[in-house]
Amino acid sequence: MTSSVGKGWTASLLYTIKDPKNLIISSEDAVVIHDKYPKAKHHYLVLPKADIPDIFHLNQSHLPLLEELFLLAQNVIEAKRCQLDDFKIGFHAQPSMQRLHLHVISKDFVSDCLKTKKHWASFNTKLFLYYQDAYALIKAGDRIQRLNREIVQQLYDSPLECNQCKFVAKNIPDLKRHLLDHWTQKQ
Ligand code: AMP
Ligand code: ZN
Repeated sequence: MTSSVGKGWTASLLYTIKDPKNLIISSEDAVVIHDKYPKAKHHYLVLPKADIPDIFHLNQSHLPLLEELFLLAQNVIEAKRCQLDDFKIGFHAQPSMQRLHLHVISKDFVSDCLKTKKHWASFNTKLFLYYQDAYALIKAGDRIQRLNREIVQQLYDSPLECNQCKFVAKNIPDLKRHLLDHWTQKQ
């Protein structure tokens, strides 16, 4: 069997999913794990067992698998006694780790691991590809294309707009204080 197992940190998800104790949920075709550097109170990854390197390899034959990934995303939210509306489910348009992985992340973005503008932009600009949009694209017979470098840079440089109100933060510490206020008010 051929495998896309590579060297170095970009392959670390492949090692993580090999250890059964890391699996929150496991089905015949996919698994759910904790994101090791969670960017919110809840952050999970759903990965296929099949050796699919990334979103750019998806085609119409993967539609049932995508549905399975989404089902497991909903299952983990339910298992954690959370609400679907409080989560974002989708892919990074510019992924860095090997093996296709669906992010399941709570919208609070309160986490010590959220440290950079890139972290924020990867979930809160067009660098985040919602599951439904990816699915519709593949269903229409299209392939997901890489964004060009200038567009990616523009998105990384986007203003730090709060995802819950109209506030625009001056910098990441300012945004993090603001997000913590939202979260505290909800408790
Ligand atoms: P991306 O490739 O940008 O979609 O994101 C990869 C995600 O994997 C990031 O959110 C990382 O925090 C996470 N991550 C990196 N290494 C590991 C690991 N060994 N186990 C679980 N999650 C990881
Ligand atoms: Zn706000």
